[in-house]
Amino acid sequence: MRAERTKRSGQAVVFLLLAFTALVFVLLFNVDLHRIIQRKNQTQNAGDAAALAAARWQGATLNLVGELNLLHLLALANQTPAAVDAITNMQARLCFTGPMTALFAAQIAAKNNHIYVDPDMTALLTEHAATVRTQYAARFDGSQYFFEPWPGAWAEYADMIGQVAAAGIAAGPDNTQRFLDPSSGHPLMEKAFYEAVESRNWCWFYLHARGLIDSYSSFHDWPPLPEQDVTDTVNSEIFGVGLRPVATPIRFLFSAGALETHFREAGFDTVSAAMLAVTNVMNAVENWYVYNPRDWADWIRIKPDGGDAFPVTGPVRPEYDYAGADAVVRVYASVARMTPGIDGGSRNDKVVWTAAAKPFGFLETDAGKQRPDSAAGFVLPAFRNVRLIPVDAASGSENSSSDIDWVRHVRSHLQPYLETGHPSSGCRYCRALAVWEQPAFRQEGRDWLELYCADCNVRSGGGGRGGGSRRGH
Ligand SMILES: [Zn+2]
Repeated sequence: MRAERTKRSGQAVVFLLLAFTALVFVLLFNVDLHRIIQRKNQTQNAGDAAALAAARWQGATLNLVGELNLLHLLALANQTPAAVDAITNMQARLCFTGPMTALFAAQIAAKNNHIYVDPDMTALLTEHAATVRTQYAARFDGSQYFFEPWPGAWAEYADMIGQVAAAGIAAGPDNTQRFLDPSSGHPLMEKAFYEAVESRNWCWFYLHARGLIDSYSSFHDWPPLPEQDVTDTVNSEIFGVGLRPVATPIRFLFSAGALETHFREAGFDTVSAAMLAVTNVMNAVENWYVYNPRDWADWIRIKPDGGDAFPVTGPVRPEYDYAGADAVVRVYASVARMTPGIDGGSRNDKVVWTAAAKPFGFLETDAGKQRPDSAAGFVLPAFRNVRLIPVDAASGSENSSSDIDWVRHVRSHLQPYLETGHPSSGCRYCRALAVWEQPAFRQEGRDWLELYCADCNVRSGGGGRGGGSRRGH
């Protein structure tokens, strides 16, 4: 009897201990949850603030370039050719200094919102500054690799990136368009290839690279990497504003009367059509800054029509319906966990937030509000505000800071691999290449496909971009 009671009270103690332990876990977990949510909010605010800050400077840059277009006309009317040169030179620089200011402003916004410097993103931009300094400015048979928008541009640009990076990158630019990144078309530049190797997704090969898996025997079989296709070195690669100079007489774009209207809108009340109608103003072939139609087209990524289109409800107002300059940034933060043992080892959770923002504006015309590029593509001061936009509706590039390993792989590992057949070590994509290089691996794929290729259909084949967010939050 007594023994029984002791046994029972022993059971109760065990039960209480268990319940207590569970309670402690629940409490700690709640603290963690609270912390994670709080940090997540903080991170979102920081990312949004950084994207908005960058977009604001993009808008300011566009307005400045637009005002300089008008000042250029005034300088012509006043017959001051030295001023004309200074103005076009300044416009060329603004296409780089403006976005670099945007990059710097994004860092300050993120840091003010409790985001720490990210060593990876800082390293990536530091590396990029070195690439610009050594490779962009390199000369081949007397000609520059990348055309310099003004003399000494690449050295100055490298300095600017280097200086921002030296202060530490907290908000990584996530929609960079680097001059050096080949535009693809080569299997080694498709992430899907590496993913198919990693996951032994033989169907991907069957559907997208059948020749490769059937006949590949060594690294000599790869086609050469595509040539760099660099036609636009007018804009900064980071937060570029999508402009270009066009040499033409202004009379091909506007009448003197229309110009007078544009001057008035921009606040130059004293400029008259008569002043501008002078021959040397209207007929001189000059470099005017215009929106590059490749960038400033319809905003197709946000069109609400059809199944795959971005889900916005209702039409976008015409004066806002354009792609063009936008800023996408990525911020990281970590949350220290208190709950023991939940994540096995690492006690920190990484919180990520990607935000996109875009400068908006319009021209007031007799026909109402019009897109900023509606005046013959001529840049005029038009940008009045900035808005956050859906990340999926922003411009982007696979070669962004979102996957630092990928950027390094494409830029630094592929060429040596194609020369020696030996992938670098320590990189996920190179490890996939090493697997691919094993004849047994490819044989396994061929054997599998011989039996099951009928099961490969386009829908389940992978490879293409599935649904969902391209960068994801
Ligand atoms: Zn690699």
